[in-house]
Amino acid sequence: MTDSPLFYQAGPALPEVSHADGVTLWDTAGKAYLDGCSGAIACNLGHGRLDIRSAMLDQLDRVAFTYRTQFESAPALALGRALVALTDRALQKVFFVSSGSEAVESALKLARQYFVATGETQRQRFVSLRPSYHGSTLGALGVTGYRPLEAPFAELTRASLKVPGPDFYRHADRDDGAHVDRVLAETRAAIEAAGPESIIAFVLEPVGGASTGARLLGERYLKGIRALCDEFGCLLILDEVLTGVGRTGAWFAYQHYGVTPDLLATAKGLGAGYYPVGALLARDDIVDEVMASGGFQHGHTYAGNPLACATGLAVIEAIRRERLLENTRARGEQLGAGLRALAERYAWVGQVRGLGLLWGVELVADPATREAFPAEQNRFAQLTALAREEGLLIYPRRTLDGVAGDHVLVTPPLTIRTDEVETLLERLGRAMARFDRALADEATV
Ligand code: PMP
Repeated sequence: MTDSPLFYQAGPALPEVSHADGVTLWDTAGKAYLDGCSGAIACNLGHGRLDIRSAMLDQLDRVAFTYRTQFESAPALALGRALVALTDRALQKVFFVSSGSEAVESALKLARQYFVATGETQRQRFVSLRPSYHGSTLGALGVTGYRPLEAPFAELTRASLKVPGPDFYRHADRDDGAHVDRVLAETRAAIEAAGPESIIAFVLEPVGGASTGARLLGERYLKGIRALCDEFGCLLILDEVLTGVGRTGAWFAYQHYGVTPDLLATAKGLGAGYYPVGALLARDDIVDEVMASGGFQHGHTYAGNPLACATGLAVIEAIRRERLLENTRARGEQLGAGLRALAERYAWVGQVRGLGLLWGVELVADPATREAFPAEQNRFAQLTALAREEGLLIYPRRTLDGVAGDHVLVTPPLTIRTDEVETLLERLGRAMARFDRALADEATV
């Protein structure tokens, strides 16, 4: 790998992939890996699906690309209608993009343009959580709460007002309800200090993804944020790039909580790794205002092309046909129970949390104080490397801003079977046993 022209992130050389099928990937040396994280929580249907392949080939044979200002296409219209239906028509308009960052970026810009159109131009700032991750483009980075990513670009981004979300693992309040009420009161105070009339929107993931290791925010908190947005006249943007299209066992994670957003960004699982496709969903009165003011001043070349939309449509049809939301809930319970059983063996597992097939395992140096491992020890990477050796891919994240410990995400494809969940847990169990021995060896030298 030393002569590879590719550069992405610092780290050890990577194996070269050969092929994949179902939940398994093989490298060119013949080693098999169970895809315990759907790549980057994207390959939600697993690999090598013939139904998606044939939908894509059919579309390729017709027309692969048209530009959104020249044609509408049957796949774009059908996928748009399907997405609106998945929200039970709570959101009625769709704007296509090709990635999660683009979906978030589009949401931020549509929200701002709405207030320009309605004459509230003093609304210039977003509110978001720390820690959080909303994408790598400069706008999405501005609402992202993760200092190592923000730091080099601090002068170039427009930073949002960052507030903490609830932390049901570490809080010292009387109970969870009291904790949520305190967090909401502090958030209200922060917004009041910044000036509620200056806020465009609150941006957050309804269930934390990579940035918090599947931290659940809960109904009381999400309803509280919805109420704050209504009171202050700002919009609620939900980032469902990772949670959308089935990952949590509902089409969208907000549907677990009875909270409706004004704008919603989704991507990863919509193309399920077969083609990049994402979408911004919005309330029609918001879009109507923007269109009446001259149109949305935004767009990307590949947005809504027929091949992308045919892929997204085939993904949604497969989830429906194979009842994958049900499978996600059932296999999610199995996986969660298995992870909790593994966690009981080791004091360094701080917390196992999740919903559907989105599970996070937080690693701590001291279970009594819930203190995180020192960041420079890179424990998340150590456990992930051991799992890889055992033939299991999991998604690693380091300690975030001292707010959460190292964690790994376990997020297999929504198609995973009972026996495959067992295999996943066996391999993770072996990796955890080796990690535990490595910690013990370090302690004795
Ligand atoms: N928002 C969330 C919640 C994400 O998890 C991600 C990707 N990890 C993004 C936005 C950005 O998506 P993309 O990498 O497709 O640009």
